[in-house]
This record gives sequence, C-alpha cells and structure tokens, in this order.
Amino acid sequence: ADDRVARLLEGLNPQQRAAVLHAGAPLLIVAGAGSGKTSVLTRRIAYLLAARDVTPGQILAITFTNKAAAEMRERVIDLVGPRGAYMWVSTFHSTCVRILRAQSGLLESMNSNFSIYDADDSKRLLGMIIRDLDLDPKKFSPRGVSVAISNYKNELISPDAAAAAVNEDDLAAATIARIYAEYQRRLRAANAFDFDDLIGETVALLHRHPQVAEYYRRRFRHVLVDEYQDTNHAQYVLIRELVGEQTTASGLEPSELCVVGDADQSIYAFRGATIRNIEEFERDFSNAETVLLEQNYRSTQTILSAANAVISRNTNRREKKLWTDSGDGELIVGYVADSDREESTFIAKEIEELTDYSIGGSSSHKYSDVAVFYRTNTGSRAIEEVFVRHGIPYKVVGGTKFYERKEVRDVVAYLRVVANPDDSVSLRRILNTPRRGIGDRAEACVAVHSENTGRSFYESLIDAAEGKVALLNTRAVKQIGGFVELIEGLRADFLTHFGESDTEDADTAFLDATEESADIGELVEAIVERTGYRAELEASNDPQDGARLDNINELVAVAREFSADAAQVDLEADDDPSIEVDREGEPEPGSLAAFLERVSLVADADQVPDEGDGVVTMMTLHTAKGLEFPVVFVTGWEDGHFPHMRALGDPNELSEERRLAYVGITRAKQRLYLTRSVTRASWGQPVSNPESRFLQEIPQHLIDWRRTEPRRGARGFGGSSGGVFGRDGAFSESGGSSFGRGRSSYSADPGRGRNKQVHLDIGDRHNHPKYGMGKVVAKEGSGATERVTIDYGGSAGRVTLLTAGGIPGDK
Ligand code: ATP
Ligand code: MG
Repeated sequence: ADDRVARLLEGLNPQQRAAVLHAGAPLLIVAGAGSGKTSVLTRRIAYLLAARDVTPGQILAITFTNKAAAEMRERVIDLVGPRGAYMWVSTFHSTCVRILRAQSGLLESMNSNFSIYDADDSKRLLGMIIRDLDLDPKKFSPRGVSVAISNYKNELISPDAAAAAVNEDDLAAATIARIYAEYQRRLRAANAFDFDDLIGETVALLHRHPQVAEYYRRRFRHVLVDEYQDTNHAQYVLIRELVGEQTTASGLEPSELCVVGDADQSIYAFRGATIRNIEEFERDFSNAETVLLEQNYRSTQTILSAANAVISRNTNRREKKLWTDSGDGELIVGYVADSDREESTFIAKEIEELTDYSIGGSSSHKYSDVAVFYRTNTGSRAIEEVFVRHGIPYKVVGGTKFYERKEVRDVVAYLRVVANPDDSVSLRRILNTPRRGIGDRAEACVAVHSENTGRSFYESLIDAAEGKVALLNTRAVKQIGGFVELIEGLRADFLTHFGESDTEDADTAFLDATEESADIGELVEAIVERTGYRAELEASNDPQDGARLDNINELVAVAREFSADAAQVDLEADDDPSIEVDREGEPEPGSLAAFLERVSLVADADQVPDEGDGVVTMMTLHTAKGLEFPVVFVTGWEDGHFPHMRALGDPNELSEERRLAYVGITRAKQRLYLTRSVTRASWGQPVSNPESRFLQEIPQHLIDWRRTEPRRGARGFGGSSGGVFGRDGAFSESGGSSFGRGRSSYSADPGRGRNKQVHLDIGDRHNHPKYGMGKVVAKEGSGATERVTIDYGGSAGRVTLLTAGGIPGDK
C-alpha cells in the first residue's frame, strides 16, 4: 500500500505535492493556466482514498462541465480502482439536482419529478406573465427581465427581498420585482425549477433544514471545487453550507475544503461569477491556507511569455509568472488576412500541412490535435465553409444545438408532460402542436379557469374536457378531450409498461423504471406516432420538414441508445459487485427522469470531441476553458471584435476580454496561431477593424508574421471595405465603417502607420475609381475618426468616407 501511495505522489513538484498532502484547514490552490490545478485536484482525491482512510462516499468534487466530471471520475478510478465510482463528481447543477431530488419531500408543493427549465422555457413563462399582467413587452422584454431575475437569484435575493429593496419611485424595478414574484409562483405551480433555482433552492433547503445540512456535512467530509474563479455568490454560499463553518453542537467538525482556481481565467462575470470568491477566500474561511503553483506543464515558454505579457496589462491582479522547463518551442505564427474567408483558408491550408504525414515525419499532427477558437458563436461559419471545401473533418462544439431545435423541444415537452403533468409551460407548448384545433382563445379560457380555481393547467384541461370550463365551444371541448386522452394514454401505457416500483408515490413509480421494461426510445416513438407529429412531417413537401423529420428520428435514436446504455451498465454492475454506485438523489438509470435530466443539463462544453473522433475541434473561447490542445488557432484578433465592441469603453469589460485572450493563448501546448482579418462579415456587412490591442501587447519577437499587411488599395480601406455614407449621411454602400449604427470600425490604426491616412481639405478635388470626380464639401472629426464628405454629383451624390485608412483614387 505504501508503494501505491508513493506512486500517487510521483512526478509532482513540491508545491503540487504539498497541495495533495495538505490536511485540515481550508485550502486554496491558486495558479496560472496549465500548472496542474485540475491534475492536483484529481491526485488529491486519489490520495485521500489511498492514504487517508477516506471513503469514496465522503467525497464531493465539483467541476465546471459534465465532461470534466466524467474525466475526473475516470482518472480517479484509474488511480484507485472501481470503488472510485462511488464518489459524487459533478457540476454544481447536477449536484444540486441530486440533493433536491433526494430531499424533494421537504420541498413545498414540489415533487421529485420536477422539470428543469432552461433559458428558453423561462422566457416563455415570462412572456405569458408579461402578457397576463398587461405590461408593455417593449419595456419589459422576456429576455431583459430574465437577466434581471437571474441576477437576483445569483445573489440569493428572494422576490420579497427584491421588492423590499426597490426604490419607491423606480417603477421599472418595482415591476420587475413583481414579475419575479409571479414567475416564482408559477414555476412552483408547474413543479419546475429554472437553472438558477437549482443552486438557490438547494441553499434555501439547507438553510431551512439544518438537520439536512448536517446530514450532507456528515456525509461529504471532503469538498473539492475546480475553476473556483467562476463561482457566483449563490454557489459560494452553497459551498459554505456544505462545508460548515464551525464544529457543531453534535461535535461535527467542518469538512475539508479544497478549491483551485486562477483569477486571471475568470470569464463568466456575465453569468454572475465573481472574482471576489477567490480573492477573499482567506477571509471567508478561517485558517485558510494557500498554495501557489507557477510551473507550467502544458505549453512552451514562447506561448507562456505571450500569455504573461497580455495578462500583465490587467491591473489589480496578483502577479504571477508562468514558466516551464520544456524550452522555447516554435515561434507563435501570426497572420493578417484580407477577409474572414481568407483567414479561414489560411487556417485550412496550415492544418493540411500540419497533418500531412508524407512531409512532416515525426512533427506531423492528427486532426484531433488541432483546435480553432473564435470570439462569438457566429465565428464558426466562415471557417466551416472553408473546411468543408478542403475536406477537413471538424466538430463545432455548441452553436447549433440539437436540443434547441423546435421539433426536438416539442417532443421533449411531451416527455416532460408525461413525467410531470403540472409542467404548464411544456403543456401549453404542445397543446396545439401538432395543430389539433385548440386555439388561443380556448387556451386562454383554460388559463383563466386555472387562475380562478387554483387547479393546475392540466387539471383545468380535464375540467374543460368535462365541460366545466366557461365560454368554451363544443368543438374546443372535444379537441381538448382528445388531447387529455392522448396524454392519459401515454401515461397509462408507459406507467404499466415501466412496471410498478417500490416508490411510495404512484406518480413517480413509472419514472423509476426497471431494467426489463424501460425503453425511452419506445416512448418517444409512441409520442411521434400517436400525436401525428411524424405523419405531418412526412406529408409535407417543405424540405425544412424533411430536416425536422431527420431530427425527430435522431431523437428516437438517442433515446434508444440511452436505454440500451443503461441496460448495459446495469448488467456490468451485476457482474462486478465491487462496482458500487451511489444512487442517492439519482433517478433510476434508463428511466424517463434520468433521460430528461440528461437532456436538461447537457452543456456546450460536454460535446467536446475525444481524440478518437479524429476531428478538428471548433469552439468559442469561453467554451475552451480548462482544455488543452497541441495546436491552437485563435482567430479574429481585431479591436471591436476581440476585444468585443462593447468592452472598448469599459475598463472592467476590457479586463474580462483580456482574461479571455489569456485563456485562449494558454490552451496551446506546442503551436499557437494568432490570426486577424482586415474585414470581417458582421450582420451581413463587411466591417473593418484595426488590429486587436491584445495582439500588440505580445512582444513582437515571439511572433513569426507570415503575412502582415493587406494589399493596400486593392482591398484596403475604401474599396469593398470602406465606410461609405450616402446622401444625408445615410449608410448607402456595403461598407465597413458604420458610425451611424453604433458599430465603430476603423480601417486602420494610424498610430502604427500600417495604412496611409489621406489628407483632404474642404474644396479639394478627388477622383474616386467608382464615383468619379468629386469635391470635398465637409470634414469632421480627427485622427482615426476623421471623415470627409465628398460630393461626386450624379447618382453617387454625397458620400462620407473615413480618411484614416486611405481613400482609393487620386487627389
Ligand atoms: P487550467 O488553468 O487551464 O485549467 P490546470 O492548472 O488545471 O490548467 P492541468 O490541466 O491540470 O492544469 O495540467 C496541464 C497539463 O500539465 C496537463 O497535461 C497535465 O497532465 C500536465 N501536468 C500537470 N502537472 C504535471 C507534473 N507534475 N508533471 C508533468 N505533467 C504535469
Ligand atoms: Mg484546470
């Protein structure tokens, strides 16, 4: 056993070792990217199990993605054997779902079949509320209100507290607080939680029931959290609750807490994450100790020097310098393209060369070694088009989300209603989908009945079918009757089909499916058949409906596979009694509840391909957090794009963007490419932006510029990319600069002398290749924003042009 313990410590540097061996006081491991934070967390778990008499059931580890959780679990099992499977390793959301499900008996007016509403469901519900309260949807948009409510929830502010905190004459805030209260009321009536509730309601549960809190503290003697810099206030309080602050009356000591993070990689402020949690750790948790890691094991020194240079421009940060002893490696490759299409072509050609075994010999890479990052989801399109043409296999992580497609959501809504008939948002979504002649008016009558009687929307539908709802015509009564019959039929068939179980609540019996009967695939199939959904799509001539049909079939396949996997896991568990898995708070494998939970909690980052998939990975910079690849392309280094437009005037946002740059750069192990484009399609218009200031922050000797400047004149400012304003200053040509629309976009940075600024004064003549001869009639602004208005007469008339990047033609 000593041997095994020794092996667990092998290869760790002294700081890493100290972090693994540390016992007792709360521990913060702060370290830059690639310094082994996640590895140390994993090793620490293995060490606890192997050397400190800790049982797997006493461990709760929290990771940022489901995929990271699965990997950590596997690594621990590799290190300590199958008993590692008993640990709870999951995301904040999954952890909370387990606790809420296990304790659902303590949740007022909720049961364990609760639905989990995503952003789209929340907005639907908010839309209904805004309509029912007769509010102006322009003033109170579901999107805007949902952000406000989310902020409240991240701060653990209840509707009552929100209302109490409102300034008397702030009508808008008061209204939002009112919507918030109504939103919570309806969520509960629907037996539903939204994402933020999962955390907040767990905290509330632990506050309300100290004995439950103590139960989990007793159970989880070790709490470990990865990516601590991206926790929000609610998550922080949850951790505090789970760990316990001091020894309780019953003699229970606080659990051991170990968190790892890097303030420089905090990139989720827009989701309420706060760097405060990592910065104040030592104040929040008494006796806390801190371990610093500085040696990087991921990247070359060249890559690290670039990362250090960029992030050191942020102020108010704890200074740390990453270093490696693995050598300088290759220079970073820089490339300036004329257009995003050309940028993509460069990337494609470069990948072809990197993966060409015939010329590269040992330096050759596999497709799976390569990742391409972009600032926003739309960044994938141009690259995809070029990859398809070049035959480069790739996978886009996130972006086009299967579970967000309308038809998939429709069928999932049926599944949710079967599981949880109280789920009024899902119910109203499918009430007339596919169309069955239940109109808005009928729906409104049922809603009013539900409101007046306090019966759920589903119960109200049953009332309607029995003729007990006012103002419904006979046709509506009949159609609603048919719908209720359909749902009851599905519930009845799959209730008996899934078999009785020992759960006390009859409603939940079929959710805890048993191995011989459960098949979600059959349920999905029954839904698309009995509702006529499939028939309707098959009968359609619309090619879009063909694609929808494919997606429906894909969902059936996913559900079948899910059931088959569950049956397989069950068999394996039967074969090997040492694989003991903790099922507390988990729905039965293969059950409808388990399927719905997986569908609800699947996130972008969980779709990152594995090496075996043999594809280039494409994703946003945000999704790339925590990952590493031998070859990384970070695209779009343009001011106004990256850093994002909205950050240019806001120091806090700019710092966050810089952290994003730091995250992107530090994903690379061996080769890093930084590319930018002089013009980029944005909302269907080419926009020209100057070089990203972050790019300028990288010492130039680290970069091998393959191409620096666009061909001047031909494609530079003024031609296809010029900002051209028509008569009266209205935007008239497909131009990059668009001052009038709030998207600033200078064609060049005059300070760096890349492009020549032209000098024109009022009265000067100018011969434009396209507009012909004209005369300068007005001039305004200066430097990068200087623009002249030239009257070319004829059909061109007056156009306004930026002078910064040069204007084609002669003076
Ligand atoms: P990030 O900040 O990006 O999340 P991290 O600090 O979590 O990074 P890891 O992902 O744990 O870093 O480690 C980065 C790489 O370094 C991994 O490939 C890991 O296997 C390797 N590594 C970590 N520690 C050591 C070590 N002591 N010896 C050799 N390799 C190591
Ligand atoms: Mg990590």
